[in-house]
Amino acid sequence: MSAEPNSAHSREGGNPGTKDWVPASAGTSGQEQPFAADLSAIRRLAGLLPGAWPVAVNVARVAASIRPNRFVIEGGDDTSITMPRTAFQVVYPDATLMIDAGLDRETHDSFSAPDRREPYFPEAFARLRKALDAARMIVLTHFHADHVAGVTRAPNFDELARKTFVSVETARCLLNTPHRPHLAMSAEQINRFVIFDYGDYYPIAPGIVLIKAAGHSSDHQMVYIALQSGREILHSVDVGWALANIAQVKGKAAPWVKEDKGAVLGQLRWLNNTLRNERNISLLVTHDDALIEAAITSGMIGGELK
Ligand SMILES: [Zn+2]
Repeated sequence: MSAEPNSAHSREGGNPGTKDWVPASAGTSGQEQPFAADLSAIRRLAGLLPGAWPVAVNVARVAASIRPNRFVIEGGDDTSITMPRTAFQVVYPDATLMIDAGLDRETHDSFSAPDRREPYFPEAFARLRKALDAARMIVLTHFHADHVAGVTRAPNFDELARKTFVSVETARCLLNTPHRPHLAMSAEQINRFVIFDYGDYYPIAPGIVLIKAAGHSSDHQMVYIALQSGREILHSVDVGWALANIAQVKGKAAPWVKEDKGAVLGQLRWLNNTLRNERNISLLVTHDDALIEAAITSGMIGGELK
């Protein structure tokens, strides 16, 4: 309770409209910042909007980057790690919702030199584009290229934008700090999105709650999904690049990653505690191929888009 006066400096800052994000570099001292999302509040919000809860979650893997493990996690070795670039489809009885949008080949290739191209799966992206077209709504977790370009670079951008929900923070990032130069957008384009503002949690659709988790980027969000089956899925998005980050509470170690390490560390610890204490919750991590493979094998998620 007494923490209130400092709330402007914490993730609980009550008024997002006045939140001036500390530049990521300010947090790179790495001192852990406590993070504590309130699961009971999140569960209550999941049931707030009327309507049937989702029945399934499917994954699309449209590309991958291969990195030595020493970039993925502090203290990692030289083992090569395949990091897929993914988007998720939430299936309702009568509609689908997309979480993130993958990326087109040109955007994927903008991250590598011509002689060192990384895997890209055009058929998977074609299926993802159909799923984006068919979705009732699209939610972007944060502004990074591999999460947004499937919408922002789409030939039918206008059509997709009107059902694409982006937070005020993501809108600002897209406008002010595009992840790649060719992803720059005008204010007029960004205003075609459905832009929303919220405090800590936001019930975006029945059974689905967004959780503010600035750190990986200033606009980064996690996603909680309650399924009709009673199963709960927590999509940790990019807090960690791999389950190992969460299991060991160790951050990423890639020199090019500019994130608020202290904030991320607090979130890794919260995820770690949550996974150990909440047996009903299953975890997703955007870029962990082994975890996604295991989730498909166990039936937790589907490996093909509907
Ligand atoms: Zn990502």
